[in-house]
Amino acid sequence: MEITEFVKLRKEALAQEIKAMERPPHLMIILANDDPASAAYDRGKMKDGAEIGAKVDMTKFSPDVSEEELLGTIERYNEDPSIDGIIVQLPLPKHISEDKVKQAVLPSKDVDGFHPLSAFHPCTPYGIILYLEHEDFSFRGKNAVVLGRSNIVGKPMAQMLLKKDCNVTVLHSKTSEMDKAFYLAHADLIVVAIGRQGFLDNRFSYKKDAVVVDVGINRGEDMKLHGDAIPNLPVAMQTPVPKGVGLLTRLALMENLVQACQNKK
Ligand code: NAP
Repeated sequence: MEITEFVKLRKEALAQEIKAMERPPHLMIILANDDPASAAYDRGKMKDGAEIGAKVDMTKFSPDVSEEELLGTIERYNEDPSIDGIIVQLPLPKHISEDKVKQAVLPSKDVDGFHPLSAFHPCTPYGIILYLEHEDFSFRGKNAVVLGRSNIVGKPMAQMLLKKDCNVTVLHSKTSEMDKAFYLAHADLIVVAIGRQGFLDNRFSYKKDAVVVDVGINRGEDMKLHGDAIPNLPVAMQTPVPKGVGLLTRLALMENLVQACQNKK
């Protein structure tokens, strides 16, 4: 099933779940930058919330907000029982410690899954797992290659695939091209999250029944969005960019939010 269709179905199911709840889940977004991309992401979150019947609010600070004020606001939202989920939109202004902010959010409200003790999975790998499960991908014993080892995508993706009994190999910028070619040629599942337009192309060979999940979002010279893989690799299934993993990430946030509200009962 196409990702757009899958996301539509899941959102309808979430809307039904919310209808049966005593009150709608409530997400609070904290924004402290003037970055147009962040504003666009946050509009997406508000739209998703409206679609499923969740309440999504935003507190916007000017980028010169002090760390103390930001942490104090998070603290207040942590204690507010009417708020189920808190997300702090990245990037933060340079004078504010990202680590301190991430750790300030109560793990039970950390629907982004950034806190080390978060009750939730980070949204991008979680959305990918939900989709692969829906597609009946049989994880057990499969060779999964994760390209990229960031804290928000590569590392948690590798951990989640390991939990699903895949044989997981993580490749990164220090992996030689020869080794990349070796591991990719044996991969049943490839998750690429490196931020390099068209990195996976026909200079590598792939198993013809492989599945490629393209996390990359790169603004090309044509000003359009492109993935980390070229389109139409010779594999069984490849997720598109755009309208691919980005939608799964947004869905996973809503899944986490509904769960955060249900966990309170
Ligand atoms: P990141 O923090 O910049 O990490 C990039 C990772 O890729 C690093 O681990 C780096 O290795 C590795 N890498 C860089 N060049 C490489 C190369 N030539 N070969 C192999 N590995 C290489 O990036 P990120 O936040 O994980 O994001 C990755 C991409 O996914 C970006 O395009 C981002 O926009 C996109 N993204 C999309 C979504 C979505 O919802 N679709 C969500 C998050 C991110 P080292 O560790 O050795 O430096």
